[in-house]
Amino acid sequence: MPSSAPAVADRVAHFIGGRQCHSQAPQAAEVCNPATGDVLSVTPAAGAEEVATAVEAARAAFPGWSATPVTQRAKILFCCRQVLHDHAEELARLICLENGKTLDEARGDVTRGLEVLDFACHIPHLLKGECLSDVAEQLDGMTSREPLGVCAGITPFNFPVMVPMWMVPLAVACGNTFVLKPSPKVPFSANRLAELFCEGGLPEGVFNVVHGGREAVAALCEHRDVRAVSFVGSTPAARWVYETAARHGKRVQSAGGAKNVLLVMPDADWDSTIRAIMGSAFGCAGQRCMAGSLLMGVGAAAQPLRERVSAAAAALTLGSSLEDPTIGMGPVIDRAARDRLFGAIDRADHEGLPLLCDGRSRVPQRGFFVGPTIFDHVTPDRAMFREELFGPVVALAEPASLGEAIDWLNRLPYGNGATIFTSSGAAAREFARRISCGMVGINVGVPAPMAVFPFCGWGDSFFGDLHVQGMEGVQFFTRQKIVLSRWDQGYIRRQGW
Ligand code: NAD
Repeated sequence: MPSSAPAVADRVAHFIGGRQCHSQAPQAAEVCNPATGDVLSVTPAAGAEEVATAVEAARAAFPGWSATPVTQRAKILFCCRQVLHDHAEELARLICLENGKTLDEARGDVTRGLEVLDFACHIPHLLKGECLSDVAEQLDGMTSREPLGVCAGITPFNFPVMVPMWMVPLAVACGNTFVLKPSPKVPFSANRLAELFCEGGLPEGVFNVVHGGREAVAALCEHRDVRAVSFVGSTPAARWVYETAARHGKRVQSAGGAKNVLLVMPDADWDSTIRAIMGSAFGCAGQRCMAGSLLMGVGAAAQPLRERVSAAAAALTLGSSLEDPTIGMGPVIDRAARDRLFGAIDRADHEGLPLLCDGRSRVPQRGFFVGPTIFDHVTPDRAMFREELFGPVVALAEPASLGEAIDWLNRLPYGNGATIFTSSGAAAREFARRISCGMVGINVGVPAPMAVFPFCGWGDSFFGDLHVQGMEGVQFFTRQKIVLSRWDQGYIRRQGW
């Protein structure tokens, strides 16, 4: 049954110091409903001055928030968790509107984000340091983890709630204050998140949102009072942010793009494998950083894989999930993404790559849709094999052996995710041990780690040292202090105690 779209403002405001703050900046981008093409709003392009206002609000809130006992911070986070749970469906519908993913996918986006908040609620335990008594004569050592100050997050369009939630809950749980610069394509859920955190009791200025494009990112990377920058987006931007923020003395974690692999052995369990491949390659219209876009059938697996995956892709329905909740796949984010993907499909087609499934046909009239697309017989010398397209476009390759597949894959520049489908423990072990990538799936289509683990990209998929989530997230948002103490034991005797 169709459901009405959420109402949104004509012009997006920043959220600074606990309230909406109208921008004087020019327009950065139109925000469209990708499922219909309708323009919903415009996002402002904050320059250095408006960014500085947000940083100043965060800086002013830092002394009070960082001095709040950690157990009290945890209690506030528990309240925020409740408020966010109460509004989870509202957030999912906002995501659906601004990003176009299906309602189920949008609910997943919120759920995975909330899992990081669950993890952050354990902060009193996570922040505990180490101590060692009598490390030398009458000398005790104790470490503590202390917040950094103002931290900044810059996020992409594809997970409007989950990716900001990779950063905000852990940063503020650790006692920092935060400025988020979301993608200008998906501003609504970021603003709503900040409002809901405030409703949950997070003091004003602890979590601020400023909207804009590259100028706002540069202002955050260069601002004197920003101590750490957490970035998630495409590889060129990730590399630029890593270099720029590091040059300005900040610690940086910067996650980039990917070309993720789904490798099928002849002994795979076919039904569960095809279900997992469909979810990975075409879920969120292929716009996940963990989306499988390089499909490999090893030896005798290639032909059944070709037949089954083409049949399943041909059965996918496209449309707006807010109008028809039964549709299987939503649109890509905007007109530019659709045109870029059609261009890549045209080029590979003209180069003679066989098409098993052509996403240019049978797309809805309205909105920015690309149908599921599968190219066959893709070899490692092809752009389609190496380049991230970030859409529902899959390259099918046919290595002769597991060894050949691993050799091909280890030459890719990215190192985000790779999955093997097999019934053999030996094949799975060989793959997991030899593959040069940070997140490995064994019969798991999207091996995105839960919040207790780090999100472990390698190669051109990550620049920095400490990843988001898990204990690495806590380490990223804190610095350690070691206190060595020595007390004169004779003092007790001299006092006659
Ligand atoms: P994007 O790089 O275009 O934008 C990401 C953020 O960076 C946005 O806030 C944007 O305003 C800003 N930005 C864009 N260009 C910039 C530039 N030249 N300099 C400074 N800042 C810039 O990415 P996107 O299109 O929003 O998201 C898709 C990309 O994100 C894909 O490449 C995907 O693989 C990647 N991604 C990676 C992960 C991960 O964990 N590795 C997770 C999600 C998405």
